[in-house]
Amino acid sequence: MMRFSLTVRDMLHRPKRLFPNKEICSRTRSGFMRYTYADFHDRVGKLGNVLSSLGVKRGDRVGTIAWNHHRHLELYLAVPCYGAVLNTLNLRLFDEQLAYVIGHADDRIIFVDDDLLPLLERIREKLTGVKHIVVMTDDEKLPKSALPLLSYEELLSQASPDFSFPEDIDEWAPAAMCYTTATTGDPKGVVYTHRSIYLHSLTLGLADVLGLGERDVIMPVVPMFHVNAWGLPFSAAWFGAKQVLPREKLDGHSLCELIERERVTVTGGVPTLLRGIFQHLEGGAKHDLSSLRKVVCGGSALPRALVKGFREKYGITLTHGYGMTETSPVVTLSQLKSHMDAWPGDMIYDVLAKQGTLLPGLEMKIISDEGVEVKPDGKEAGEIVLRGPWIAGEYYREPEKSAQTMRDGWLRTGDIASLDEEGYIQIVDRTKDLIKSGGEWISSVDLENTIMAHPGVLEASVIGVPHEKWDERPLAVVVPKKEAQGTLSEKDILDFLRDKVAKWWLPDQVVFISEIPKTSVGKFDKKELRRRYAK
Ligand code: AMP
Repeated sequence: MMRFSLTVRDMLHRPKRLFPNKEICSRTRSGFMRYTYADFHDRVGKLGNVLSSLGVKRGDRVGTIAWNHHRHLELYLAVPCYGAVLNTLNLRLFDEQLAYVIGHADDRIIFVDDDLLPLLERIREKLTGVKHIVVMTDDEKLPKSALPLLSYEELLSQASPDFSFPEDIDEWAPAAMCYTTATTGDPKGVVYTHRSIYLHSLTLGLADVLGLGERDVIMPVVPMFHVNAWGLPFSAAWFGAKQVLPREKLDGHSLCELIERERVTVTGGVPTLLRGIFQHLEGGAKHDLSSLRKVVCGGSALPRALVKGFREKYGITLTHGYGMTETSPVVTLSQLKSHMDAWPGDMIYDVLAKQGTLLPGLEMKIISDEGVEVKPDGKEAGEIVLRGPWIAGEYYREPEKSAQTMRDGWLRTGDIASLDEEGYIQIVDRTKDLIKSGGEWISSVDLENTIMAHPGVLEASVIGVPHEKWDERPLAVVVPKKEAQGTLSEKDILDFLRDKVAKWWLPDQVVFISEIPKTSVGKFDKKELRRRYAK
């Protein structure tokens, strides 16, 4: 066979060749726009010329701080096809973390939405390696800023659509990167290669995976700054599916309106967003959502009640997915096997609420603390370890963190799961000290250390507890010093934290106890704390 590099290039050219009139629709800040894959191809060509005129070299990192919209999609293809590396920056990061990521990735250019520009302005002193900031706006004029700015639309308007994207990119070359929150300390970078994106995108198309195709109308609700929006934009472009991009309007009403109007067939987001849709419908809103055939829900555990509610009341079957930034991300999906169709409802919901079965092409083990594989009995639990063509083998320029997480050729996920006889995994715990609130991470260790800096606190431990809307919220367990016993209050702790952590990190509850339970090696016994408080 030919030695043919698996690169993102075909994802740009194929839709123009075969589906030039297929639409891409995008919410903009001022309204809504739609154009075709032919128009898209022209603008991506222009963007190629713009990158070249701005001096971007192969392998350079190009940052984005942007919502889900057509310009972000243009960058998704232009940057990798150019041979540069798309670094999607998480707009929920704190200022110091954002500055760290931009510096660590060494982003040469940053493309930023006009309404997100303040994020960069706050850290402008630290942007020493950034050569250009390009603003994506619908307005004629650029916003006033102390930063030197270029206009995306103006640059494109002056560029030719003819650009010859290189044909000699190696499949192992980096195409994109995304940083993920570490348990403590700075975020860690994961680099996606052309090959990993190619194979992940192709697999999403398989009938028993998401079965994506040209007839689909795909709306990624998961932010485009999270793990390539789960790979949906790449697959959608490649297969010629219509795309619908909702920008930042992710409330139940706005999403239902888009699904109904654009006849969306496939969408995906975290449970918090799907719960928003559910509650909107429960409030009596009437929408025709019959076009939906695949609704993927991942990033946090999908509650069984939501699966049941959607299926029984609205005829929508949610597909529970599991993955992480390190895994491109899709690892497992929960779908019924044909012989389960006849099962009673309760058994079906039990299956659908699990994280699902492994995608073809990946290898998984669930191992005990002793490194032995657990019995596939749906009860015994162990850590999920993974390997495969779209699983990260290392963190970007982080040999130590890589050695901790990638061992003996396997990625240690830090997720604890059981495996049943049918091959479905169910996540039951997490060894990493992180709390996931509405799809974004909170470091329990950082919160604990900050609380323990309070002069009245002897010890503090923070755990995630289930939450109706946000899936998980932090609860702090605090042991006051002797002299503060009886006087230290929840308000004291929260007031102390207020100027030290982001508002959404503040614990929902502070519980005072006389001693934090410890494990045999003297660590906070979070399992026991969760048993007591995470009900
Ligand atoms: P991220 O890298 O931000 O995408 O987060 C990945 C982590 O989110 C995983 O390691 C899990 O801890 C958690 N996660 C992702 N999907 C699920 C799911 N379906 N159920 C439970 N936890 C999940």
